[in-house]
Amino acid sequence: MVTVRDLHKSYGNNEVLKGISLAVLEGEVVVMIGPSGSGKSTFLRSLNQLEATDSGQIVINGWDLEDPKNNINKTRETIGMVFQHFNLFPHLTVLENMILAPVELHKKTKAEATSTAMALLERVGLADKANVKPGTLSGGQKQRVAIARALEMNPKIMLFDEPTSALDPEMVGDVLGVMKDLAAEGMTMIVVTHEMGFAKQVADRVVFFADGLIQEIGTPEAVFDRPQNERTKDFLDKVL
Ligand code: ADP
Ligand code: MG
Repeated sequence: MVTVRDLHKSYGNNEVLKGISLAVLEGEVVVMIGPSGSGKSTFLRSLNQLEATDSGQIVINGWDLEDPKNNINKTRETIGMVFQHFNLFPHLTVLENMILAPVELHKKTKAEATSTAMALLERVGLADKANVKPGTLSGGQKQRVAIARALEMNPKIMLFDEPTSALDPEMVGDVLGVMKDLAAEGMTMIVVTHEMGFAKQVADRVVFFADGLIQEIGTPEAVFDRPQNERTKDFLDKVL
């Protein structure tokens, strides 16, 4: 589903990605952990070209992002992204937020988009909130709407960048629950998170990212119980 080869990216003199290679299979859940500032967000943003990279190859769902014939907007439609902050439009209702992209991009009629949106809101437990403004929702509810909205375009892969980091602790479980359901339904997912419990329970593979490099990658058991790399051990000692 995703193949990344030797990806490099600098901001000025600051080399943030120093040669990242990663292959993610269809249906796989890859959880990325690692210290702040190590390049995890830059990597995720590179995957849908929210960030231009300097060198290396990214192929997503058969689309080579470097190919000039490739239509980046088409590729982006197959990638759902959920950020720490929800980016919902405050002046629109939950339902209007959800149907905006597919209707504006002429992917669906308003009726079709509304019917998918209602089914997705049902799935994240928020069907009764369709007609309220985001401002009246809790952080966890907003994030569940953001996930539902990302699913509206029927993505092939979902990228999550610390989706629960800005939430009050009591909201985290509901959002992780929605993500677990998605994983169980076979969605291909790359998740940056500090939720080690989620990583252990849901990840097919865990990536430890530090200093712009993948330092270690393996099953949750391998990375958490038998880390090989000193950096991984140090990090896990601090967070577990
Ligand atoms: P992480 O998500 O692991 O915390 P980031 O990818 O956000 O790491 O950041 C990696 C490094 O890149 C940091 O040193 C950060 O300061 C730098 N960086 C991120 N975005 C920008 C930007 N738009 N301009 C300049 N430097 C940036
Ligand atoms: Mg980040």
